[in-house]
Amino acid sequence: MLKAYSYAAAAADKPLGPLEIQRRDVGPNDVRIDILFCGVCHSDLHMARNEWGGSNFPVVPGHEIVGRVAEVGSDVSKFKVGDLAGVGCMVDSCRTCASCKEGLEQFCEGPESFTQTYNSPDRKSGGFTAGGYSTSIVVDEAFTLSIPGNLELAAVAPLLCAGITTYSPLRHWNVQKGHKVGIVGLGGLGHMGVKIAAAMGAHVVLFTTSPGKIEDAKRLGAHEVVISKDPAQMAAHANSFDFILNTVAASHDLDPFMALLKRDATMTLVGAPEHPHPSPSVMNMIFKRRSLAGSLIGGIAETQEMLDFCAEHGITSDIEMIRMDEINKAYERMLKSDVKYRFVIDMATMEK
Ligand SMILES: [Zn+2]
Ligand SMILES: [Zn+2]
Repeated sequence: MLKAYSYAAAAADKPLGPLEIQRRDVGPNDVRIDILFCGVCHSDLHMARNEWGGSNFPVVPGHEIVGRVAEVGSDVSKFKVGDLAGVGCMVDSCRTCASCKEGLEQFCEGPESFTQTYNSPDRKSGGFTAGGYSTSIVVDEAFTLSIPGNLELAAVAPLLCAGITTYSPLRHWNVQKGHKVGIVGLGGLGHMGVKIAAAMGAHVVLFTTSPGKIEDAKRLGAHEVVISKDPAQMAAHANSFDFILNTVAASHDLDPFMALLKRDATMTLVGAPEHPHPSPSVMNMIFKRRSLAGSLIGGIAETQEMLDFCAEHGITSDIEMIRMDEINKAYERMLKSDVKYRFVIDMATMEK
């Protein structure tokens, strides 16, 4: 076992603080990664505060991990010591069900589903998995990503969750050059959606409730910005979208957006609301054969494809770097949406 320094929540009502943990010995298929940077996702906060229920304390959050390979097992073929490597939301799955065989590990149908990077029963060493707010992690190479060398490393970290969560639905619903694509919300997910959809060649329209975000949305690659509270602005876009990616996690009325889809087009939700959205109007859907869908991160192969796509197009997240001991303050700011657009922890600041 190997000692690692981490930050953990000891209980739902406790701030995060330092905790020494053990990582398993490197097995034949494992890589040990010295973590350099870890992004801060809203899920981290939900889990640390047990807002979805089922948190197993202590919780070491973090699933936007980048670092350098420090050790490899005897059967590892994809990585060598010194390589850049990344870990996203999953560290294992059953590998035998239909979804796993198709490379869709996020929909693993095995009895345990996929193993989340933190707060999941650990298939390999028992107990619960501990995430990336830590100096190191040991992960099977099958769930380890290669990180392109041409991008700013800290700004790559959020691609491992925010990046793939937006890339996967844009690919699955086949967004093409020239398509009119809406992105609803300009937060950690939304700002990645704008960048990726624009790089795919789409005409990107960003929907926001805040006029203060117009300029930034355009800087990030949006061709148009619509203030979604303004019915006249919304009406001007009726029946015109090939696809809408809705990243808003707060409960809201979906109908005004559904009415903007063309016949047969889809709006896909990737935000997980604490309280359900009001039920959408069925008329809106049947009269134009429109679809409302959901999407969850992406498989490992698609995550690698996304990283390679981002390397080719020079895409990273807009980040604000923090020290490890600033994490509790960062959570408070995240709750006020006071971040552009992702906090990333510099792991060199971890107290040992
Ligand atoms: Zn996440
Ligand atoms: Zn499976």
